[in-house]
Amino acid sequence: MTRVFNFSAGPAALPEPVLRQAADEMLDWRGSGVSVMEMSHRGKEFMSIHAQAQALLRELLDIPPNYKTLFMQGGAIAENAIVPMNMLRGKASADYIDTGEWSRRSIEEAARYGRVNVAATSKDSGYTTIPPREAWQLDTEAAYVHICTNETIGGVQYHFTPKVGDVPLVADMSSEILSRPVDVSKYGLIYGGAQKNIGPAGLTIVIVREDLIGHALPCTPSAFDYAVVAAHDSMFNTPPTYAIYIAGLVFQWLKDQGGLAAMARRNEAKARLLYDFLDASTFFSSRVERSSRSLMNVPFHLKDPSLDEAFLKGAQARGLVQLKGHRIVGGMRASIYNAMPLEGVQALVDWMREFEAQHG
Ligand SMILES: *Cc1c(COP(=O)(O)O)cnc(C)c1O
Repeated sequence: MTRVFNFSAGPAALPEPVLRQAADEMLDWRGSGVSVMEMSHRGKEFMSIHAQAQALLRELLDIPPNYKTLFMQGGAIAENAIVPMNMLRGKASADYIDTGEWSRRSIEEAARYGRVNVAATSKDSGYTTIPPREAWQLDTEAAYVHICTNETIGGVQYHFTPKVGDVPLVADMSSEILSRPVDVSKYGLIYGGAQKNIGPAGLTIVIVREDLIGHALPCTPSAFDYAVVAAHDSMFNTPPTYAIYIAGLVFQWLKDQGGLAAMARRNEAKARLLYDFLDASTFFSSRVERSSRSLMNVPFHLKDPSLDEAFLKGAQARGLVQLKGHRIVGGMRASIYNAMPLEGVQALVDWMREFEAQHG
């Protein structure tokens, strides 16, 4: 068996100890005689797995008691609709900040349910920056302000929490959730799909302030109404049981690593290694403005794109996989989520240095 360094943007690498434990427990979960996949979601075994995952998530993010944590399905793309359905709360419009492909997708979807005010955009920069807070044209009557804190495709990330007054701040954190501590109390709602930085695809995490729940549009499907989901402890419909189990193992792993402050230090060190190399190189470059660079997704370009294929082929031969950039941005992209060890980034930088010496 050979494990590679997997730079996939998502579904992404998982911590090896988590996969080993899941393998050990595959046929017989802790004496139950069945796999977690074969359990009733209402049985005491799975209820304990569910409760433990919820408790660990709350502990890791230090979630205040007046917030609900919901385990949903449909991914962030479904949540792009579920958010306006639940959060418009009779108001005429919502403010959105446009920082790239994923916020654009959120805007498009929200416009089906209400009026969207694009309060700031970094389109003119080719989505290589986060627009400074001073430039946002917010509406004090807006139902909420929506941001995508880490643009997975463009590789730009917020390194500040925007102040938006009394209007609830809503954040798509799909590709950075649990990579660093977050002051949850500054947000009305946080959501994210699990398959970037938590666990398998199929689980969506929603953290929502209680007073914002209970105002869904009448057309909202029951399974997507936060009030219904919360009232049933995320068990209104059959939850994605195996994904929740793996997420719980990842939460425990994160706790064992020292929690989110320790992960943030590790993630900063990994990103610094790569960006320092890119900045010193005359052959490879990052196009993202320094103050907005993502610590999770690092797009980069070769000076001569005709060498892209050779670079990828050599990377593959060295066990460095899934480095091809998203077609919108081109070039390369290294996704270096929590489960990517420093050694993986070091191996990538070593290969980049070698390739530059050959072709630069
Ligand atoms: C991956 C991603 C999405 C889409 O998630 P799905 O699980 O495919 O719905 C949305 N937003 C961000 C920031 C993402 O990284």
